[in-house]
Amino acid sequence: MATNRTFTMIKPDGVENGHIGAILEKITASGFRIVAMKLTQMTKADAEAFYAVHNERPFFGELVEFMTRGPIVAAILEKENAVADFRTLIGATNPADAAEGTIRALYATSVGENAVHGSDSDENAAIEGAFHFAGREMF
Ligand code: ADP
Repeated sequence: MATNRTFTMIKPDGVENGHIGAILEKITASGFRIVAMKLTQMTKADAEAFYAVHNERPFFGELVEFMTRGPIVAAILEKENAVADFRTLIGATNPADAAEGTIRALYATSVGENAVHGSDSDENAAIEGAFHFAGREMF
């Protein structure tokens, strides 16, 4: 299986609730190598662009408000089968449906405030990583 990359954010709720360390520990213990990482805050324009695919959805305004209300940890991660394995590690979008032991089951509070993001394809992982990081910030 090929080594590839995914993009993640610890969302504002995960940062506010003090879960940065526990989430990063789970990520690295699951075999992901951190290629890039920073604490940053999205502007309204950033969040609207990042989540543009959802701009017709009823929760779009709420999502943009949430994602911009405080800092996030943005990171690029590398592993064999990174995109699919990371989606498994974080669990379903709604923590009520997330498998036991997944990051969202442990740390998310609602379908909107669900602690972490994980790219849904190799193509989006590359786009999302480039959205947040310059080439010289990737190692
Ligand atoms: P995922 O992040 O699991 O790939 P989606 O791409 O469907 O999920 O949605 C993007 C983000 O939008 C979710 O992670 C969540 O923060 C928010 N979201 C999704 N569905 C809802 C909803 N029904 N109500 C509020 N926020 C939502």
